[in-house]
Amino acid sequence: MNVEIIAVGSELLTPDRLDTNSLYLTAQLNALGVEVVAKAVIGDDRGRLTEAVRAALTRSEIVILTGGLGPTEDDVTREAVAAALGRSLLWREELLEAIEQRFRRLGRQMAEINRRQAFLIEGAEALANHHGTAPGQWVALAGRVVMLLPGPPPELQPMFADYCLPRLRRLLPALVIRTRVLRVAGMPESDLDQLISPVYTQYHNPVTTILAAPGDIQIHLRARAESEAEAERLVSELSSRIEALLGERIYSRDGAPLEAAVGQLLRSRGATLSVAESCTGGLVGERITAVPGSSDYFLGGFLVYTDRLKVELLGVAPQLLAEHTAVSEPVAAAMAEATRARTGSTFALSTTGIAGPAGGTQATPVGTVFI
Ligand code: AMP
Ligand code: MG
Repeated sequence: MNVEIIAVGSELLTPDRLDTNSLYLTAQLNALGVEVVAKAVIGDDRGRLTEAVRAALTRSEIVILTGGLGPTEDDVTREAVAAALGRSLLWREELLEAIEQRFRRLGRQMAEINRRQAFLIEGAEALANHHGTAPGQWVALAGRVVMLLPGPPPELQPMFADYCLPRLRRLLPALVIRTRVLRVAGMPESDLDQLISPVYTQYHNPVTTILAAPGDIQIHLRARAESEAEAERLVSELSSRIEALLGERIYSRDGAPLEAAVGQLLRSRGATLSVAESCTGGLVGERITAVPGSSDYFLGGFLVYTDRLKVELLGVAPQLLAEHTAVSEPVAAAMAEATRARTGSTFALSTTGIAGPAGGTQATPVGTVFI
């Protein structure tokens, strides 16, 4: 069963707004064992949207639209889907009644333009909106379904969960998707791929995806099966073969980030950590404290951007700074040692470097960092 998502809204084509509805919907659909095969963002243009809906229906059994159900002229989803299906829009008194009731409850006067939200595509089922005015629509066709959902996430999410999920469960074959996320540090993506691709290319199920960011590679394994046990077995088989190749380079097997893995190690050893940050300006402490429960092992630290504060707060020897400069291994070590001594932590981590864009020299170019 193929699913496509069409996010409607010209604002989603600007640098200011991101389509997050499709991420929510994809997670929900994946949990049902369905994969999203395509998604699109279309501006508020009736012709383009009609074309996009028509094209999606030639490829996919389930098409989900979000947005464009508002009361204004630029909200064209109802009209575009009706046109794509060759169906008319029907005025539904009971929908208007529900919208008017909502306004009354909020003690507000309904604007005349809200009447547009009482139009239902011929043959569609209205989906009640308990958090806004625009009702959703569920259009069942021969072997296909089109859903129209409101744009605001606080309206879309409960509507999808309450009304669409139960209908989809009745419609879909019971299929389970299991995902495993392995995270790897300290290895370039190409080296990693060279090592593990002879193994993962032998499998079409699970599907393997490699996502690389500086210093952090994620290996996603997704298996589909008729039962949870079978999906788990498929994922585990490939995962253990990859794990055997990568060994200790894998720091996380459940998708947890590096700071969570480090935190878990500290906690299990009853150890504590403090930091002294220069070039990172507090970012290391921010990442560590972003992990729930980090107060179990993180004590705090020093933000010592200037040489003067390195001396005054940490007691780094001025001669050391004069001799080696702040961006040097001896100063990084002195910062960490002083931090451990002053906080009483088991471990201390320091950073000092030239983050750039300016400030580099021949001897210490931008990007030089001592940890
Ligand atoms: P609409 O249903 O088109 O009137 O959308 C109303 C509001 O919902 C927009 O102004 C956005 O703030 C939000 N919205 C619409 N589409 C999306 C989307 N795909 N992801 C996240 N927010 C959205
Ligand atoms: Mg809109």
